[in-house]
Amino acid sequence: MTEFGGFAPTLTDAEAGPTSGGSSTIQGVGGRVDTNLVIIGSGPAGLTAAIYAARANLEPVVLAGSAPGGQLMLTSDVENYPGFVEGIQGPDLMAAMRAQAERFGTRLVDTDIDRVDFSERPFRIWSRGTEYRAQSVIIATGASALWLGLDSETRLRGRGVSACATCDGFFFKDQVLAVIGGGDTAFEEATFLTRFATKVHLLHRRDTFRASKIMVDRATANDKIEIHPNTAVDEILGESKVEGLLLSDTKTGEKRQLDVGGAFIAIGYRPNTEAFRDWLDVDEKGYLVVHDETGSKIDGVFIAGDVHDHRYRQAVTAAADGCKAAIDAERWLEAQGITEAATATAW
Ligand code: NDP
Repeated sequence: MTEFGGFAPTLTDAEAGPTSGGSSTIQGVGGRVDTNLVIIGSGPAGLTAAIYAARANLEPVVLAGSAPGGQLMLTSDVENYPGFVEGIQGPDLMAAMRAQAERFGTRLVDTDIDRVDFSERPFRIWSRGTEYRAQSVIIATGASALWLGLDSETRLRGRGVSACATCDGFFFKDQVLAVIGGGDTAFEEATFLTRFATKVHLLHRRDTFRASKIMVDRATANDKIEIHPNTAVDEILGESKVEGLLLSDTKTGEKRQLDVGGAFIAIGYRPNTEAFRDWLDVDEKGYLVVHDETGSKIDGVFIAGDVHDHRYRQAVTAAADGCKAAIDAERWLEAQGITEAATATAW
């Protein structure tokens, strides 16, 4: 069984039962691996793609990243992923998805990719000295929430510090909250959080906003939202949970404390596209551009999840995208004559 820090699969090989995929023949550093499909990324999109592709006998290789599991690894309770009546911990959900992918013969390597060459097939991907040659590729590298970079923020993540109001707002009923940021996400999250909170303080480091006027107007008209321009967060206070914020005025330097039970960081996302920018199109926000659902401008290279989706950004939408990409990849491989009989019954 693969070991991966803090992210142990919940099934043993014996519990998982027989696999229908190929043997786990990932070579060590310096080797070469040939496969029908490489999936890059191991969040809900990548692992769902792996489950589907493995069940279609594509014997996928997942390059899972050195910190596998994606954004849900930083989340505690997940209550909006269908099928879990009482909710599930983010890391547990990802461990289960990973075990499910392994059960059907997916080969996973917890490694970051160094570079890719998509100029011809097989596509080539290098990681830690190993060259992966793939007839098709699914890119599911996700996006990373940006953080303020405070030690206290890291320590209290999942204990009152969050980057997702949709995911975590429900846990803050009748509390006073803060949202940090001045873009559309911050205003949207502040407005959303008024469903639960008694009051939401929106803290922004400048006195003009990137957010659209309609979002600012809506927040300004909301009695529960108080907007604090020229306000920086210097520290998040609390030992085991968020109890307040240490703030400073970015014009005068004046310091003050604000008591809140939760802090939602909404200062933007960075899609993880660095390795692909020479090969694929990115939009004005830096996200990969998809054509015809999950396709890219290169035949045989597919895209799934938050690396292209800045609109929904949910685990369930990413998982659905991974499913679509796997089906598209499988049909494409068949159409090219690379794989044989249609395996639609495997879905
Ligand atoms: P943006 O980049 O638009 O805004 C980020 C905000 O965070 C800015 O106000 C920025 O401040 C602030 N910020 C960045 N870094 C720091 C920092 N280190 N400390 C304090 N503040 C910081 O990101 P969004 O996520 O808000 O939006 C991304 C895109 O998604 C936008 O194009 C947006 O329009 C779109 N979007 C649309 C929505 C909708 O239409 N419903 C909803 C959500 C997003 P500063 O302004 O000073 O740089």
